[in-house]
Amino acid sequence: MNISWETFKVHTAHPFGISRGVKTGDDLVWFRLEHEGIEGWGEAAPQGYYGESAATVEAALQKLAPSLEQVEDPFRLEPIERDLRSALGHNGSVHSAVSSALHDWVGKRVGLPLWKMWGLDPANAPLSSFTIGIDEPDVMAKKTKEASEYPILKIKLGSPDDEARLRAVREAATDKTLRVDANAAWTPSEAVEGIAMCAHYGVEFVEQPLPHCDWDELAFVRARASLPIVVDESSIVATDIPKLDGLVDGINIKLAKCGGPREAIRMVHTARACGLSVMLGCMLETTLGIAAAAHVAPLVDYVDLDGAALLKEDPFTGPHLEAGRIVLGDAPGLGVDRA
Ligand SMILES: [Mg+2]
Repeated sequence: MNISWETFKVHTAHPFGISRGVKTGDDLVWFRLEHEGIEGWGEAAPQGYYGESAATVEAALQKLAPSLEQVEDPFRLEPIERDLRSALGHNGSVHSAVSSALHDWVGKRVGLPLWKMWGLDPANAPLSSFTIGIDEPDVMAKKTKEASEYPILKIKLGSPDDEARLRAVREAATDKTLRVDANAAWTPSEAVEGIAMCAHYGVEFVEQPLPHCDWDELAFVRARASLPIVVDESSIVATDIPKLDGLVDGINIKLAKCGGPREAIRMVHTARACGLSVMLGCMLETTLGIAAAAHVAPLVDYVDLDGAALLKEDPFTGPHLEAGRIVLGDAPGLGVDRA
């Protein structure tokens, strides 16, 4: 295979605040492979929280390049991805870009969209939420009104004045389904109070109330929680899931964390075997990154694939949201083109 990549910048339509800080954009890496005249594309969305940056992605791709260039049969997805893992360790966004590109190539080669190759029905994909980042309560209310087309909102909390922020959103969206993501910001006692407060405002579930790996504290909070708890920062790959059995109600899968669509599907089935519900989320990503997750969406219970919808500009077209509904289309592979 021939491979190439380039780093590019995207900007958010509005400053995007979560408990760890505010973003106005991100560096993403567009990965391309070519074999027998067909191109496969993937996107890396590296996150500092998980130890990655555009520079670590580029360094990892440099390291992988010789073995990727020797690949003679991209259909051998399983052994290729196994070899990548042993060569590189965990660099989730790099694996995701390469895995997405390999699957894109295979789909284009056989002339089928990925959802069809995987035996899925796009009609089974749940509606996606749209995220309202942390800001002043009046700004969050304004953003809520601007998001009127979306029937489900995900509210970022985990800062002082959580209640004023959630109240402002609820008053601006009295009938909508609201979900809350605390992004690991609460202590156990804050989480117990915060979840009760969320229940008061009719929230459906709370995502990642606590830092990622204190299981005793998670058990303490869940025993006192009146809403389901979904974890994101605590569920990176499939092997993280069995230890969450009994401690949470669901997991949030992101391709940039787990390493791409192949591992994401493995996570779905592992979570099901543990009786957990499954959410599918994203980072700030273009349509290229979101597409790889969107094809997995018919397998899950909750979707939060608004990454491209939060951007000011999107260099790609393809699977997208229409009033929260995921439109997958029939184009082969990921179904993504340059805008
Ligand atoms: Mg989250």
